[in-house]
Amino acid sequence: MDKQKINPEEVWRSTKGALQLQMTRANYDEWIKDTQLLSAEDNAFIIGVPNFYVRDWLQDRLHPLLKRTVEGIIGHSVALNYTVYKKNSPEIAMENREIPPLLVTDRGRESKLPQSIDLNPRYTFSRFIVGSGNRMAHAAALAVSERPGYTYNPLFLHGGVGLGKTHLLQAVGHEATKRGYKVLYVSSETFTNDLVNAIRAQSTERFRERYRSVDVLLIDDIQFIAGKETTQEEFFHTFNTLYSANKQICITSDRHPREMDRLQERLVSRFQGGILTDIRPPDYETRLAILRDRSRDVPTNIPDEVLELMAEKVATNIRELEGAFNRLIAHALLVHEPITIQLAAGIWQDITPSSTPIVDPAQIISTVANHFNLLESDLTGPSRSRQIVRARHIAMFLLREETSLSLPQIGRMLGGRDHTTVIHGYDKIKKALIVDSILQHQVMRVQQTLQQNATPIYG
Ligand code: ADP
Ligand code: MG
Repeated sequence: MDKQKINPEEVWRSTKGALQLQMTRANYDEWIKDTQLLSAEDNAFIIGVPNFYVRDWLQDRLHPLLKRTVEGIIGHSVALNYTVYKKNSPEIAMENREIPPLLVTDRGRESKLPQSIDLNPRYTFSRFIVGSGNRMAHAAALAVSERPGYTYNPLFLHGGVGLGKTHLLQAVGHEATKRGYKVLYVSSETFTNDLVNAIRAQSTERFRERYRSVDVLLIDDIQFIAGKETTQEEFFHTFNTLYSANKQICITSDRHPREMDRLQERLVSRFQGGILTDIRPPDYETRLAILRDRSRDVPTNIPDEVLELMAEKVATNIRELEGAFNRLIAHALLVHEPITIQLAAGIWQDITPSSTPIVDPAQIISTVANHFNLLESDLTGPSRSRQIVRARHIAMFLLREETSLSLPQIGRMLGGRDHTTVIHGYDKIKKALIVDSILQHQVMRVQQTLQQNATPIYG
């Protein structure tokens, strides 16, 4: 695709098309439908929006999604700015200052507890494809949603990014709501913010009432409460109150509770007291089934061979898979062409590097160090502390698996170690990976971080 020839208006139209596929209808209509591209110069897009409320919302909430989508379409980075534009008459911008009454209620005033985020209508059990990586998690979630509080309590789902944790958690929410239970879905960050606001506004009673009066509490991404003592304290009591009243608690996390640093031991043990299950990356069949399911939402026909190609190429996680899917559709809309294997292959040629990323060895070392909260110099230095040795072995393992460096080269990168030391470290991890699920997750997460950083935007 020749970038020079792309008309910015077309780009924005395609962006809107791609967003339509990624957002709920209501959200799209509310925030995106009436936007317009006003100018595009020097890689800066100015997006006209109908009122100040939409402008704030785009800036504060949707900016990353918009930016990612535009960049996915044009293939390079752009700045996006939002401005209230006067469509017909100069007064309109001022008139629109008035915020629609319905929306005022969820703007979340300082002292007011924000509403729970609505559930995504697509995150239901019927749109969740079951495969080898998520079978257990799906079965547990389904059981819990049918008899909240009595089957497994708590339900703790963990796994890497983009593998369907939020989807399953919200599916429990949909199902339990349908059965008449009172459900509250929040991320652990919202829980923390609500608590902080409640303390500031001296309304902790209301906070407790809100969180402790539900039948099903769904907490997404609990890992963010790590290190937050007050939040953990409050959450512990919330948990106990609900638990002893046979109310259901479901939690997701990007890692196993044992692996969460700075999490109070009493919470770690609570989290392990019900059912704890992980979600693993999808196999080819699952990826293909997900794509087939998603293609039902799209107005254009996508030949099965294209879906097969995509399922084959994108093996990292489901969010990436959807990203690739949306890019293909957006591209097809942009060039006004039907989707064929040739078109897809053309796009895939550009994207191929993302599925076989060139991993920079230095990045492996820094990512491993980061992941374990260590300095790179810990890994290359002489320390024999157990934690550091373990991380160092993981670095050896990944350097050998992910790069073409020789053993002596790996030894040199890690502070001048002997090649037999490298082999030893590599073997240790390789063997431990077979039985140690925590290690599996650690390694997988480092790999995911590496892949994300190595993935170029296509273009
Ligand atoms: P996580 O919370 O684990 O990071 P999400 O639940 O946000 O991942 O999933 C990322 C995207 O992938 C979502 O759009 C979700 O609907 C989709 N997805 C994940 N797993 C499945 C599945 N098994 N079937 C269908 N869609 C899935
Ligand atoms: Mg999630």
